[in-house]
Order: sequence, then structure tokens, then C-alpha cells
Amino acid sequence: MRASPSATNSVSVKTERSEQLLERACRVIPGGVNSAVRAFGAVGGVPRFFERGSGARVRDADGNEYIDYVGSWGPLILGHANPDVLRAVQSAMERGTSFGAPTELEVAWAERVCDALPSVERVRMVSSGTEASMCALRVARAATGRDRVLKFDGCYHGHLDALLVGAGSGVATLGLPGSEGVPKAFTDQTVVAPFNDLAAVESAFSQWGNEIACVIVEPVAGNMGCIPPAEGFLAGLREICDRRGALLILDEVMTGFRVAYGGAQLLYGVEPDLTCLGKVVGGGLPAAAFGGRADLMDRVAPVGPVFQAGTLSGNPLAVAAGLETLTQLAKPGLYEGLETRARQLMAGFEAAAADCGVALCSAVVGGMFGFFFQAGPVRNFADAKQSDTALFARFFHAMLEGGVYLAPSAYEAGFVSTAHGEAEISATLEAARKALPEALKPR
Ligand SMILES: *Cc1c(COP(=O)(O)O)cnc(C)c1O
Repeated sequence: MRASPSATNSVSVKTERSEQLLERACRVIPGGVNSAVRAFGAVGGVPRFFERGSGARVRDADGNEYIDYVGSWGPLILGHANPDVLRAVQSAMERGTSFGAPTELEVAWAERVCDALPSVERVRMVSSGTEASMCALRVARAATGRDRVLKFDGCYHGHLDALLVGAGSGVATLGLPGSEGVPKAFTDQTVVAPFNDLAAVESAFSQWGNEIACVIVEPVAGNMGCIPPAEGFLAGLREICDRRGALLILDEVMTGFRVAYGGAQLLYGVEPDLTCLGKVVGGGLPAAAFGGRADLMDRVAPVGPVFQAGTLSGNPLAVAAGLETLTQLAKPGLYEGLETRARQLMAGFEAAAADCGVALCSAVVGGMFGFFFQAGPVRNFADAKQSDTALFARFFHAMLEGGVYLAPSAYEAGFVSTAHGEAEISATLEAARKALPEALKPR
């Protein structure tokens, strides 16, 4: 695909077709979208309906092309329509799309995941990250005989009732305290602490120590922007959990195979009891998983008494896409390459902001990045909320006009893929240098 309309066009890009589709969609789908944040609620304007993607680029229904930094919200680490992934899916598809019975391919997938993550001795596949964290909580509660769970403000673990408290992402940007329809009794057992704040965790444990089954955390927070763990934070959680007889669950749905081969647990050297996986491990198809120590995972049915099931769990197409993706990711130097690109991108954004005299602080971990319109430092959700989100919304739209698709919210991480090369990064930075002054114009 070729480059898109340039930011010098003062005329807005055409969105007629997306508008028509949205109108049609809204009649039959709530808000016209199948996941809330897709609706552009936080930035306004018309969500783009996509028609196709190839490598780092996507094309919308009006024929506009964009360099894509959403990557389907994380899974597409090899870019859109990666030929090897397509071949793997095609070959699996020809043999049947679903059996509801075990297959050799899912064993190979599980072996690869267990090899990559030393803390994961056994793994069970599910279809979404939400399911993964729901199941991990169930195992942790069963194993400890305790009910309470501790999560961090701004961390998102999917839309399961128990964890829709202080959840970032769509929930935070929509300004909802949680969600209606979640009985108070379901979240009474959920304790919320600020991210990167070990003292708050200690104090929660002093209050409810013998009742807390587990701490669940995104090792690099990616649903309130991109916020890396402070030095010692993850190790501190490990130590507190050990001392208090609680389990540590790393929700690596986003970070798994994204920040490093394996995930953040390898990058930061922390060993969780249980791990949630999703996004990249499904290679762009619906697959996710939870796994961990054998003695914990052997509590899951049919070996143990913790019930868990799924009609399409371990779906052969998703497993094929995931396995091919993981196989390609094992190449030496791949994550260094992703991180180099992400760093070039964020350094360029910081320079563009400095030229305009506007505060911008950024973070990069492997193939994951984020930036906030503020001086920082940003260590938790309360800090993140000090950002200029109105400026972000204007910048977002100016970037769209310049042919760059960022996540439509100031509180989302961005992603680079192996298909993002020098050309894409420099085109993006050129767009940013034009978009920022545009976004800062008084209106
Ligand atoms: C995306 C995400 C989830 C939810 O995954 P779904 O597949 O959307 O249900 C859970 N945890 C984290 C950290 C995520 O980023």
C-alpha cells in the first residue's frame, strides 16, 4: 500500500463511507462497535471502518491509508496479513476449523509457551484475555482458600465483574467508576492500590492479609498509557506475596511476547505463580491462556476440582496463527529491533513537542510504547490523569489526517511491529511534526 494523504492538505480526509457504515452499524450494534473504545468516544469524530491491512499499514472504507500503531490492540506483532501466518492458518483451515477435541497443534503451542516461560509448567488455552484472568483468579482462590484479590488502579484485566474496579482503558477514559450491572457483592472482595506503590500494598495486606488470595498486576501497565514498573516494584510484590501466603498473578496478556520473547517476567526477572496470556499468543486470532506452576494448574478440571471449559478453546486456526507467530518471534535480535523503532518514534515525538514548547513524556518497553502530554514522571494512574487529553484528541485527529493511526485514547499503549521499518518511522515523525502545531492552534 502507498503513502496516505499528507498533513499539508487542509481539507479533512474523506470519511463518507465510514460515516454511512457507522450509521448502519448503530442500528444493529450498540454504538456501532463490538468493543467500546473503538467508537472514538475519547477523541470524538468518526471511527474508521477498516477494509484491509498489510504489514504496518491499514486502509479504511474510504480508501484512506494509515500507518497503524494499534495492531489490533497488540496481537499483530508481525504486522497485518503476515504471509507465513496466513499460510499457517490456511493450512489448518483446510483440515477443519474446529473439533472440540484435542489436536497435536495445541500441544506444540503449549510446549512452546512452557519452554519460553520458565514459570509456566502447565497452560490451559481460552479464547480471550478476559477469560484468562477470570480463570487465573478462580485457581488462586481455590489454591489459597481465600476470597479477596488485590489489583492496581488503572490496570485492566478484561471485563470480568470482579476486576471492573479502577480499571484503565475504556473504563477510565469513559470516566466510569466501574460499570453498572456489576453487583457490589462481586467487587466487595476486590482491593485496589496505586500502581508502583509497595507501601499501599503493604498496608492493604496489614488490613486484609489473611484474606487476600492473590495480587494481579500488569507487569508493564499498558491500559493507562504505558507505565513501566518502578525499580523493585515487581520484586517487592513477589516478596510480599510470599510473606503473606498470597499468589502473584502476572497479567501478561499485553506484555507476553510483546516486551521480550516470553514476556515481562523474563525482562524483569520476577517469577509469578500464575500468568495470563493473550493478544500476541493468538497471532491475530482469538486465543489466550492462563498457566503457571504445575501444582496450581493441576487444580484445574479434569485433574482437579476447579471447573473450566470452552467450546472454541484451543481453536485450530487460532493455535496455528499463534504458533507460527511465536516461532517467528524466537529469532535473535527481534525485540531489540522493535525497541529501537519504538525508541526512534518516541524520541521523535519528544523532539517535536520540545520544538513546539509543549510537555510530552514517553516510555518504551520492547515493542510497546506510550506518551503523555505532560512533563511527568508518570508512575501511576493518578499521575497519568494529569495529562492534557484535549490536546491528545486534537493531535490524534491531526495524525489521522497525516496518515497515522494511533489508539483513539490518551490512555492506551501503542505498538510497533516487525513490519514498521525506517520508512514508516520517518513518515510518522514527519506527520507528527506537522500535526502537533496543528493540534496546538487556538480554536
Ligand atoms: C487486552 C487485555 C486483557 C483482555 O483481553 P481480551 O482478549 O480483550 O479479553 C486483559 N489483560 C490485559 C493486560 C490486556 O491488555
